[in-house]
Amino acid sequence: MTLVTALQDRVTGQIVVPGDPDYEDARRVYNFMIDNRPAAIVRCANVSDVRATVAYARERGADLAIRGGGHSVPGYGTGDGAIVADLSAMSQVVIDPEHRTARVGGGATWAAFNDAAAVHGLATTGGIVSTTGVGGLTLGGGIGYLSRANGLTCDSLISAEVVLADGQFVTASETSESELFWALRGGGGNFGVVTEFEFRLHPIGEIYCGLMFFEPADAAAIFRYFREFIADAPRQYGGYPAWHQAPPLPFIPQDRVGEPFCVVVSCWTGDHGEGDRVIGTFREVATPAAELVGPMPYPAINTLFDELVPRGLQNYWKTVFVDELTDEAIAAHVEHGPRVPAPSSGMHLYPINGACHDVPADATAFGNRSASYACNIIGIWPDPADNAANTQWVRDYYAALTPHSRAGGYTNFSSADDEQRAKDNYGTAYGRLEQAKRRYDPDNVLHLNQNIPPT
Ligand SMILES: Cc1cc2nc3c(=O)[nH]c(=O)nc-3n(C[C@H](O)[C@H](O)[C@H](O)COP(=O)(O)OP(=O)(O)OC[C@H]3O[C@@H](n4cnc5c(N)ncnc54)[C@H](O)[C@@H]3O)c2cc1C
Repeated sequence: MTLVTALQDRVTGQIVVPGDPDYEDARRVYNFMIDNRPAAIVRCANVSDVRATVAYARERGADLAIRGGGHSVPGYGTGDGAIVADLSAMSQVVIDPEHRTARVGGGATWAAFNDAAAVHGLATTGGIVSTTGVGGLTLGGGIGYLSRANGLTCDSLISAEVVLADGQFVTASETSESELFWALRGGGGNFGVVTEFEFRLHPIGEIYCGLMFFEPADAAAIFRYFREFIADAPRQYGGYPAWHQAPPLPFIPQDRVGEPFCVVVSCWTGDHGEGDRVIGTFREVATPAAELVGPMPYPAINTLFDELVPRGLQNYWKTVFVDELTDEAIAAHVEHGPRVPAPSSGMHLYPINGACHDVPADATAFGNRSASYACNIIGIWPDPADNAANTQWVRDYYAALTPHSRAGGYTNFSSADDEQRAKDNYGTAYGRLEQAKRRYDPDNVLHLNQNIPPT
């Protein structure tokens, strides 16, 4: 019996195998630097399909890849010769406005979630690009514009429906499989396949947004101001300093497109007049070369970067957690940031204070919670011929920040060559995560992730 027949007997979703017309597209994930050829992609339609796929991969001793939104830069949603459980068809989003909760399928994207919740003036912390999967982002922790107001994404998780590696189907919450629930909130895809997430939602109306492009010569002053400002900024402020080349947008002077700028990206969830005043304080530090400041719907700010970073480009990222944005670290940013080599590349320095620090460090498996920032050096470019130059920029920037950073970085921003950093990336949670792995996946069936091998 062929693989496809044997599997198709057990699942209702479509199975794509080599030779099928859509195999070339289905085998690919967001990062086209990943060029794996899985044995089959199972487009799971329901929980029963997920259970059958997990069981089938186990029986065959095949690698099992779980794909939510497919955004993992190391390409964990695929694998050479692997069976892929593709959850993208399990993308339902059901909002309960009365109780301010959402039930979200394990393969949904933030676009679907944000849009459905915004109808009711609600949201939870999500990623800044709408095509990213809710699954991988939540399981790794989840950092976004609302982190300072509402905590990490995983802090708003109420429960999860999970297919375990041995095929059991369980609910994880504070009161059911509580150790699994702890591990899912930061431990990545190591512990089970989440078929549905239940989130707490927060009232979020129209936001006030700011994109301010500052000259590289003003960058040191902007970073120093941001350091003071963010330490006790109102929690309605979610935003970060960044480096980017100026994109071809109407508010950018045409002769400056493609030049590097220090960008302050701001999202304000409170009163708009107050937001205008708070965001305006950056103008007292330096005059922006270009800016776009004004109200917009919350889902819209999470699409601002979508076109800049489409699926299908080459991706190589590096990340560090930072306790203090020292003058030395700022000097490294000011040296390497302006060398940003491609329009889609950049650096984002996300604060993780405010509500993120209300949650006790050991309450979830996000093991570097006490850090002040998660820094992401983002290499994204179109042509594989340029891989060497672009990865070198990321590596040089990372090397310059390393002496001023924690040993670990945010698992969700790591690249495939960061696997040896897993212990540092999971930080203080690592030992307990190892125990949870022994309990929930002792054979390491779920190993295509930032892996925690059972010891
Ligand atoms: C353009 C872009 C923007 C990003 N922006 C942000 C951001 O603003 N904030 C942030 O915190 N992160 C961000 N990230 C990082 C993002 O959190 C990770 O890439 C994350 O892994 C993406 O999840 P996914 O479901 O799309 O990925 P996938 O590649 O599908 O999965 C990633 C990992 O999670 C596992 N997984 C996914 N879904 C499930 C599930 N339902 N059950 C069990 N395991 C699952 C997979 O097995 C894999 O190990 C961004 C990434 C990209 C590429």
